[in-house]
Amino acid sequence: MAAPSKLAYLLERLTQGVAAHDRENPTHHTWGIGMAHFDIERLGLEEGEEILPGIVLQSDGGVTGQFRVLCDGRHEEGAAEVEEEELVEAVGSQPVEIPSPAVPPPLKPPV
Ligand SMILES: [Zn+2]
Repeated sequence: MAAPSKLAYLLERLTQGVAAHDRENPTHHTWGIGMAHFDIERLGLEEGEEILPGIVLQSDGGVTGQFRVLCDGRHEEGAAEVEEEELVEAVGSQPVEIPSPAVPPPLKPPV
């Protein structure tokens, strides 16, 4: 079960990753964070949720244990939209087979 402190740590890493990307690419508009579906599940997160203000979490089919800063800008050498940051420390190394929601679900508009 992912402790709330782990989620706080993850959000801090995401914030730092976005900030680093935006600092290096001031003309880019960052709109999302990409994670492997596996990571989203084991972190107890939800695809499509606004994980940071203005930043939506997307399942991108990428490498597990990392996240990508998704933006509308172009990156050199074909690495468009990709900035990789280690996620391993945040999620821990132990496999989580039965994810239990440790954090309250994100606020959603009534359906
Ligand atoms: Zn960019």
